[in-house]
Amino acid sequence: MSIKENVLKIEERIQKACDKVGRKREEVILLAASKTQPVEKIIEAYESGIRYFGENKVQEGIEKIEKLKEYADIHWHLIGGLQTNKVKYAVKYYELIHSVDRQALVDEIEKRGEKLNKVIDGLIEVNFGEESKFGVKKDNLKELFEYILTKKYIKIHGLMAIPPYFENPEDVRPYFIKLRTLRDNLEKEYNVKLSHLSMGMSHDFEVAIEEGATIVRIGTAIFGERNYAK
Ligand SMILES: *Cc1c(COP(=O)(O)O)cnc(C)c1O
Repeated sequence: MSIKENVLKIEERIQKACDKVGRKREEVILLAASKTQPVEKIIEAYESGIRYFGENKVQEGIEKIEKLKEYADIHWHLIGGLQTNKVKYAVKYYELIHSVDRQALVDEIEKRGEKLNKVIDGLIEVNFGEESKFGVKKDNLKELFEYILTKKYIKIHGLMAIPPYFENPEDVRPYFIKLRTLRDNLEKEYNVKLSHLSMGMSHDFEVAIEEGATIVRIGTAIFGERNYAK
């Protein structure tokens, strides 16, 4: 199957999932997880209608962003873990950082944002277990959120998670519900708006959409299997 066919298929499935729970298609951003994919493949996805791309590694992504400058309406997101020494590059190139997960990182983002006089947009990544080494544990989420509220140059728009992998996507549903609940609780407790839930990947995005995902990050189902493990 070509990338174009894959995207069409995914679009149908997204629409179906939205219909099932009475959501509008426009509420869900289809973000192509393009790690390890060459720019040619990204262009194919672009020509299939995709405008959001997520990269895992700051530098790998920047090389592609530079090569694809003429595609000015691409939204580039950073979806992989962020090292503090890469922040100064990340804040210049990426529109949204999905992986804000610790105070030291917040401090560095604040510092770089202040230098650029630019508010940096981010999501807090929550860690639900062994699947990802990144993310704040849910018991420490409030503390991190409060810490960020004291900062001027970083704004949090929601939560992101990579739940454990299950063969049956239904088994992931409780994690999606949990992330949404954590978001809802923060909104209530701090009287803020957190519009985004970045959750759902190739094998479970429909369930994620049913549970409120606003950004689904899809790699394999668009580009095919990657050459090396994620
Ligand atoms: C690779 C990756 C995805 C996409 O995974 P697929 O299973 O290939 O859809 C989503 N989110 C993150 C953070 C990733 O690293």
